Amino acid sequence: MSAAGAGIGRASALAMAAEGAIVHATDIDAGALSTLAAEHENIHCAPLDVTDAGAISAFAATAPIPDVLFNCAGFVHDGTVLEADDAAWEATFALNVRAMGRMIEQFLPRMIENGGGSIINMSSVASSIKGVTRRCIYSASKGAVLGLTKSVAADFIGDGIRCNAICPGTVLTPSLKARMAAGGDYDTAFEAMLNRQPTREMATPEDIAGMVVYLASDESRVATGQGFIVDGGWSL
Ligand code: NAD
Repeated sequence: MSAAGAGIGRASALAMAAEGAIVHATDIDAGALSTLAAEHENIHCAPLDVTDAGAISAFAATAPIPDVLFNCAGFVHDGTVLEADDAAWEATFALNVRAMGRMIEQFLPRMIENGGGSIINMSSVASSIKGVTRRCIYSASKGAVLGLTKSVAADFIGDGIRCNAICPGTVLTPSLKARMAAGGDYDTAFEAMLNRQPTREMATPEDIAGMVVYLASDESRVATGQGFIVDGGWSL
């Protein structure tokens, strides 16, 4: 899995390990990985920048064949279409979409040889599901993740491969906290985020990790090609 060092990825690595899975956790942040590895004996860590195609190939060459591939890494660009330059479009799509494609390209053939498996891609309700202010490039990229997910599901359903996406709403992770702090008034930003939740509750990374465990397990054996919304009713 990617982006296991913090937030949803970290909670998911721990939840899967608690269920008995052997987790091969990667992240660009080697320091975060070392504290994660110390939390559970089933978690094995390796630094990986998923925007580096060569690093993905090298990692895939040494990693065991996975039953589950969880592509979690993603970046949130803040801005409208008028504030999005070429560099922002390219960087966002490189991490949020192309990197997922590369991970799938590397691991899918071996998963097929192994009899199948489950691929889980991290999308968002900010995508084709819901228009969200100041999330133009981000939403375009997460909509692309849903297209990638459905395409892989359709192409490889006969090979025992399932491919699903998760579409969270507002999840209180380190990166969300940093985005709320970036404007200079954390409390006001927090209140604005809370107000868009009909439940008046932020989701926790653990709330999303439960869906990751479900999609990784045989409990979801007939679920494929779907985007699973876990958003506290934000998209209602
Ligand atoms: P986050 O954005 O804080 O990132 C978690 C980890 O990603 C960090 O440990 C970071 O080191 C790692 N990372 C960053 N760039 C990387 C790279 N190039 N290669 C490998 N790892 C890299 O965590 P989050 O908020 O839990 O988001 C995780 C995913 O969930 C993202 O795809 C995000 O778009 C999606 N998401 C988050 C929310 C939310 O409200 N937090 C909502 C919907 C979707």
